[in-house]
Amino acid sequence: MTRREFLTGAQAGRHPAAGPQVSRRPYRGSGMTLPLLGFGLMRLPQRDGKIDLPVAEAMVAKAMEAGCNYFDTAYMYHDGDSERFVGRVLADYPRGSYCLVDKMPVVMMKEAADNARIFGEQLARTRAGYFDFYFLHWMNAAHWAKARALGTLDFLKRMKAEGKIRRLGFSFHGEPETLREIAEAYPWDLVQIQLNYLDWDLCRSGEQYEVLTRLGIPVSVMEPLKGGTLVSLTPEARAVFERADPKAGMASWGLRYVASLPNVRVVLSGMSSPEQLEENLRTFMPFRPLNDAERLTVAGALEAYRSAAAVPCSACRYCSPCPSGVDIPRNLALHNQIRRGTSVFHAKLVYDAMPERQRASACVGCGACRAKCPQQIDIPARMAEIAREFA
Ligand code: SF4
Ligand code: SF4
Repeated sequence: MTRREFLTGAQAGRHPAAGPQVSRRPYRGSGMTLPLLGFGLMRLPQRDGKIDLPVAEAMVAKAMEAGCNYFDTAYMYHDGDSERFVGRVLADYPRGSYCLVDKMPVVMMKEAADNARIFGEQLARTRAGYFDFYFLHWMNAAHWAKARALGTLDFLKRMKAEGKIRRLGFSFHGEPETLREIAEAYPWDLVQIQLNYLDWDLCRSGEQYEVLTRLGIPVSVMEPLKGGTLVSLTPEARAVFERADPKAGMASWGLRYVASLPNVRVVLSGMSSPEQLEENLRTFMPFRPLNDAERLTVAGALEAYRSAAAVPCSACRYCSPCPSGVDIPRNLALHNQIRRGTSVFHAKLVYDAMPERQRASACVGCGACRAKCPQQIDIPARMAEIAREFA
């Protein structure tokens, strides 16, 4: 199907059927549907430090052809080139034939005037006219306080009233308690959280999902593969998946796990190559939810992954609560993640998002936890090591 042929018959929330299409899920009974696979534009293919335009454009064309027409960009991605790229590549498609998501980079803002300045730049870069979804980017307790101080939500409400934003949401990295506070502050249309089978407990992502579900807020998933961690895994964990299904890729297990959750509307994947795109499209054309046996396979792989850890913490929490408030098993899990070398960036992100009193650096070395650990882990020594690791 050529781009020109695509132009005929494309309408908002629908997609002209061509070949096999990505499975879609209804969005709030509005008649609108979203593709279960969304295209994250933060890790586009690169050449000489810049977006490899021919390859990236071909990927977008392929995605559109398959009905994967939800594109997620942000002011900071590729230093602004992601927004410019999407503006250029989607300009040939009818505006109603795709969903564009952009985000306000609260972390970069200095004064209230930045609201209008940045938003105006984004409209110009993306040439979109309006955003189908617009998020407060990277919310946590500190960034939410800053957004309120700078009047960002009020500004975005005005943009919504003017039709420049169709639906308002936020992306989140933090604790479920903070998520609930933000989620209850406004009738949000969509919230993006980091969700995958490893973070379900580790980052309390499962609790985050439940908070949003109870409030009736649809979920968009970021990092379903934990920045590639769930593709590389460990040999032991990979073997569990390969025994269950020798043909299924590691990515397909991670994507299917989150897409099987009923309140998930779209699963973002930051695809960097045509091969990744092809593999992900196959997973969703059509999508098959995990069955009971497959859920057990994921649990078995997770167990195998955890048992290959540098510190044998089973997350039993017998050591908790720490009188100083340190979240001991979580710090140890992040330590293990760094030791495996699979996702150092994400471990640091999670550590920074934790309240200071929960970080390993808050350990005062009282030793109250040491005798409680059935694994005989020298917890105070490990906390000191982790504090240095993340300093
Ligand atoms: S040694 Fe550190 S982690 Fe253990 S109970 Fe004391 S303050 Fe908490
Ligand atoms: S008691 Fe030991 S094994 Fe259990 S969570 Fe604490 S550190 Fe981990």
